[in-house]
Amino acid sequence: MTRRTVLYIGGTGRTGSTMVDQLLGQFDTYFSGGEMAFFWSRGIEAGAICACGEPVRTCSVWSHAVETITDDPDGLAAQMVALRRRFWSPHVFAMIIPGFARRRMREIAELPRTIERLYDDVIATRDIKVFIDSSKEPHYSYILREGSDLDLRFLHLVRDPRAVGRSWQRRKTEAGLTTNEIMEQRSSPMASAYYMFSNIVSEIFWGSRARQYAFLRYEDFVADPAGILTSIGEFAGSPIDPNSVLDGTSFAIGQMHTSWGNPSRVGRTSITIRQDDAWRTELSRCDLVLLTLLNLPLLLRYGYPIRPSRPRRRTLRSRRLRQADLAHR
Ligand SMILES: [Zn+2]
Repeated sequence: MTRRTVLYIGGTGRTGSTMVDQLLGQFDTYFSGGEMAFFWSRGIEAGAICACGEPVRTCSVWSHAVETITDDPDGLAAQMVALRRRFWSPHVFAMIIPGFARRRMREIAELPRTIERLYDDVIATRDIKVFIDSSKEPHYSYILREGSDLDLRFLHLVRDPRAVGRSWQRRKTEAGLTTNEIMEQRSSPMASAYYMFSNIVSEIFWGSRARQYAFLRYEDFVADPAGILTSIGEFAGSPIDPNSVLDGTSFAIGQMHTSWGNPSRVGRTSITIRQDDAWRTELSRCDLVLLTLLNLPLLLRYGYPIRPSRPRRRTLRSRRLRQADLAHR
C-alpha cells in the first residue's frame, strides 16, 4: 500500500494557518481536515460545527470515517482524549530522559493508529492525494510520525511574533461551537513563550529532515501566493496549478469539511489574501517592546526587522521552501 501523504501545518497558532489551510483545501487533490489534534475533544465531545455547517458528529464525511472505526463514538473520543493527555507539550521536556519517548509512544500507540484509520477513510472516500492537518503543535506531529505509517510533510509556518501577539489579544467568539464561548486569549509573555517553544521544537523535530520539512513565512506567502502554492505542491508531492483557484489575490471557498480551527473556517465564501499590518499601530508600546525582546532570537533567525517602523525588506526566505523541496528531488 502506498503511504498516505499528510501535509502538516506546524509551528504556533495565529500565523495565518487557517487561510493557508482553506486555500490549499480548494484544490481537487487536497483535503483540509483542520486542526485534527482537537478532533475528538472539540469535534466529537464538544459538538463542534464542521465547515460544511453540520455538526462534526453528523457531517457526512466525518460520521462515515468515525463509523468505520467504532459504533461508540463517545467511548472512543474519551479514550483518545485521555491518551492525548499522556503526551502533551510539557512532556516534550521529559524527552531528554533516555527511553521516555519510546515508552510513552508504546503506551499511547492506539492514538496514532486510530487517527491513521480516520485519515485513511477520508483519503479513500474523497479520492484525494494530500490530507491537510493544521494542528500546529509539533509534539502532535511527532506522535503521528512515530506512531503511524502516514507520510508526514511538515510545513513550518511562521509569522512576525508581534503580529502573532496582537492576534492573541483579540476577543473573538468561538463560532465553531454551538455555545458563545470566547476564543482563548494570551498575554504578550504567554504568547511569546508559546511562540519560542513551538517554533524551536518544530525545528528540533523536523529541521534535519530535508525531504519532509519546508519553512515558510506567512509574509512571503502573502507577497507571492501563486509562487508559494506551486512550491507547496511540489513539497507535498501533488502538483498545484494556482490559477485554477486563485483570482489575483482572492479565492472562492467551496464546500469544506474542516473539523476544527480558527472560527473563520466557518461561513466564509471568499477570501482576499492581504498583509495584516494592523499590529504596527494597534500594539501598545509596552507590548511591542515585550514581544520584540522576548522573541528576539527567533525574530532575528526568521529575518524580521527589530524596529517594525523600518521599511520591510523582501528576504529570500520563501526560497528556503524551494530549497527544502529541491533537496529531496
Ligand atoms: Zn462536514
